[in-house]
Amino acid sequence: MNIFFHGEDLEHSDVEVFAAIRSELERQEQHIELIASENFASPAILETAGSVLTNKYAEGYPGKRYYGGCQYVDTVESLAIERAKMLFGAEHVNVQPHSGSQANTAVYMAVLKPGDTILTMSLENGGHLTHGHPKNISGMLYHVVHYGITLNTCLIDYDEMLEIARKNRPKLVTIGASAYPRSIDFERVANIAHECGALVMADIAHIAGLVAAGLHQSPVPFCDFVTTTTHKTLRGPRGGMIMCKQQFAKDIDSALFPGIQGGPLMHIIAAKAVCFKEALSPMFKKYQHQIIKNASCLAEELQALQLSIVSGGTDNHLLLVDLRDSYPEISGKDAQFALDKVNITTNRNTVPNETRSPFQTSGLRLGTPALTSRGMKEPEMKQIANMIKLVLDNIPHGEESFAIREEVIDLCSKFPLPYK
Ligand SMILES: *Cc1c(COP(=O)(O)O)cnc(C)c1O
Repeated sequence: MNIFFHGEDLEHSDVEVFAAIRSELERQEQHIELIASENFASPAILETAGSVLTNKYAEGYPGKRYYGGCQYVDTVESLAIERAKMLFGAEHVNVQPHSGSQANTAVYMAVLKPGDTILTMSLENGGHLTHGHPKNISGMLYHVVHYGITLNTCLIDYDEMLEIARKNRPKLVTIGASAYPRSIDFERVANIAHECGALVMADIAHIAGLVAAGLHQSPVPFCDFVTTTTHKTLRGPRGGMIMCKQQFAKDIDSALFPGIQGGPLMHIIAAKAVCFKEALSPMFKKYQHQIIKNASCLAEELQALQLSIVSGGTDNHLLLVDLRDSYPEISGKDAQFALDKVNITTNRNTVPNETRSPFQTSGLRLGTPALTSRGMKEPEMKQIANMIKLVLDNIPHGEESFAIREEVIDLCSKFPLPYK
């Protein structure tokens, strides 16, 4: 029975979109993907996300829907919830958020009123837009105060966090980052928040896979709310999820639907269920372990080539290169563009004590989840470090570009994507 549709139809019915998708597949195959938030989902997950479940409306929750014909999607959503509970040890799970941002917004809607104070990590130190940026709904609706990092160590300043929490009495403290290379002490943050009468939300969008594999302290036992994406280290479909203590279950569910979303994406929820099953396997733990080993190796190799790494290394899946010491003339943007030309995909990032604008920046963020999914290990990290160094040394002339690009394509061809 054909429940999935693999291109044969699209190839004939829509030549333009088919061609764009095929080109994107080629791009993914022939580039070294170092964007820390990206990954390659498994064939099973891609199939599920492309399934007939996209046809179904299912407003509500399993057993309590506003539409008929929901018996099979109920099975799928219940499986996703049960597996997520098992994976993270959560009391209550909502698998319906369309994205990580929706998950965070639902938590805010569940516990805050406009004008309430939230204490969050500042963006330039690795926080996320949904943690109070003035142009995000979190920054528009709530009064935002920030904690940051200690400049000499580049580690979260928990003492400052406590001091600011005592002074400002926030209603909610958020912890979690998009560009923080070190472990986070969620227990300590929860203690700080609770001591000051605040609730606490941990956002593990980036490190969810590491947490699921037991390779990073889990916030689930300590924090009132834990939000995540499912498509970063967790390697599932693009989407979000909320975990919370049982006492907040009803408020969270109704803040998400009907609070900020309508019908759930049942094809994506099914793919989340498949993702959680994969994440419960011993193979997944090995994969997460290799992500960390690869990130450490990449950091060490770059340091051996005289590049500065923020905080001196990494505990997780990402590292930040501070270009100012070795290449004071080169911005993060210049470096990103030069690497793009040789098929190495990265993103510019601010570094602690940043002197350039967020559009230019002085840093590069590099992550290893995607390369590790292709099967790359330490020898390849060493090769990639050498290529990055060569590219940076040759800005602005780029004489070596052609040869390096050939080397990148050759390396990629030895590690085919999981879904080929
Ligand atoms: C990626 C990320 C999000 C948002 O995820 P989207 O699915 O892009 O909305 C939220 N919080 C953090 C810390 C993230 O890194």
